[in-house]
Amino acid sequence: MPVEGFTRRRFLGATIGGAAALAVGASSAGSAGAVGRRVLAATAAPSADPGPFTLGVASGDPLPDRVVLWTRLAPDPLNGGGMPPVDQTVDYEVATDAGFAGVVAAGTVTAPAAHAHSVHLDLGGLQPDTWYWYRFRHGGVDSPIGRTRTAPAGGATVAALTLGVVSCQDFVNGYYTAYHHLSSEDLDLVVHLGDYIYEGGGSRVRSHNSAEIITVDDYRNRYALYKGDADLQAAHQAFPWVVVWDDHEADNNYAGATPEVGAPAVDFLARRAAAYQAWWEHQPVRLSPPSGADLRIYRTFAWGGLADLFALDTRQYRSDQACGDNLQLSCGEDLDPSRSMMGFDQEAWLAAGLRGSSASWALIAQQVVFGRLEILGRFNMDQWDGYAPARQRLVDVLTDPTVPSAAVLSGDIHAAGQGDIRVDQNDPASRVVGSEWVTTSVTSSTFGDDGLPGLGDVLVQNTPGLHYANTDDHGYLRLTVTDEQLHGAFQVVDTITQPTAGLRTDREIVVPRDRSRPARPTPSTTGAPSGSGSGSAAGSSRTGRASGAVQAVSVTPRFTG
Ligand code: FE
Ligand code: CA
Repeated sequence: MPVEGFTRRRFLGATIGGAAALAVGASSAGSAGAVGRRVLAATAAPSADPGPFTLGVASGDPLPDRVVLWTRLAPDPLNGGGMPPVDQTVDYEVATDAGFAGVVAAGTVTAPAAHAHSVHLDLGGLQPDTWYWYRFRHGGVDSPIGRTRTAPAGGATVAALTLGVVSCQDFVNGYYTAYHHLSSEDLDLVVHLGDYIYEGGGSRVRSHNSAEIITVDDYRNRYALYKGDADLQAAHQAFPWVVVWDDHEADNNYAGATPEVGAPAVDFLARRAAAYQAWWEHQPVRLSPPSGADLRIYRTFAWGGLADLFALDTRQYRSDQACGDNLQLSCGEDLDPSRSMMGFDQEAWLAAGLRGSSASWALIAQQVVFGRLEILGRFNMDQWDGYAPARQRLVDVLTDPTVPSAAVLSGDIHAAGQGDIRVDQNDPASRVVGSEWVTTSVTSSTFGDDGLPGLGDVLVQNTPGLHYANTDDHGYLRLTVTDEQLHGAFQVVDTITQPTAGLRTDREIVVPRDRSRPARPTPSTTGAPSGSGSGSAAGSSRTGRASGAVQAVSVTPRFTG
């Protein structure tokens, strides 16, 4: 129950969060999701002084018994935060309902000055597979209410996992219309694949708040600009997130300790340390605060027996880009097996995790496009095409018949796409061992934005195994995982140049699970034979049920504006 100085009566006072909670209290018979969305729509409205909670709240890294709850005290968000330079305390309250009638945890946590007065509360003792509501209080002001959930218990039978997959949200290029719609989806988890902020200056539809960012104060103010966006806040309030970074959280196309060519001449590792610190301060991650230029962020999440999610870092440990970076012809360096995309430690960690997984699916959440993709006659050396032997090493692991059916989730390219992962990337007739799902940008410039409309159709025509590409639109991927299949819906918005716009489903694609892989804990109701490697020999693809077979389903726009 509420702790001292922190009563529900005070919470339900004149704040927007309290008002919203009261409003739904009378109709809490609805589904948890519906109630949550109503609360969140109300709290997203900028109708009251947010006090120190200008950056909203967030949650992430869900486990069966715990989840990380985040906020940051920043009454003057774009100018260093505005808090006195001493540690602060923040009260929190967690309930099983949006009205906070059933409070299950409450207490006080420190917001350290050294961490920009951010809060990372790793709240344990929770029930598996359960939705919760949470809020903070500081200086007599309530935060917005966030909704989050725990993962199912280890090995539990799970009917479905629905992910929102996002990447690349350059603030200056447009509005976060995609997040407005994503917040109304029925998701379990949002996975952000990087480019959460962009480091440059500039102005287009919206403006960055400074020139290129270098210092930790610069990075903090940049996160504050992004996190001040109401649509982004609503998306954080609606679901737990798993966040990994790509390059723009520090510097465009950096590789390990090597900055982008032409980047400001500063000590890059000092800059990277500043970038990583500000990233940690602003994300709901279960990681120790960084000290210095290194921060291990690759980690795994299990969703019962259904899926193991591997969240990778393809930026911090990679070899420098081959052949001069960007779009290039192969120069041989890209074929050098001594180069790595993940670093050899992470490669070994991932291989062991995949081989040790007993889930039905392995979801590999990472940053850059995995499959071979010739673009305008060249290859993007920042993608896995620039690290071909490293890619083959991972493909070889995925080919192991004891490894679960695998899906690689990618971002970075500011385009949507879906394709096969084959044993031999250069042989379109070789066996399919997984699927790749590329989410388009939330806002960052697409090829279409940059004067090359319709390139996606050309890519599909010229790329074996690429079933879909949209290089024009912005949005997100909704991916529903069941024991039987992956069902992806590529959601795109009509425009990002206005604050509001409609949403449509550009394409839906279904990929069945590879039934030749070992049996997993499956619902007893499926009735499908799951022969533990007995009857279904590997490589038996005599029917249309070949592994990785793709089936397009009819497209029905879910939203029309
Ligand atoms: Fe990007
Ligand atoms: Ca990127």
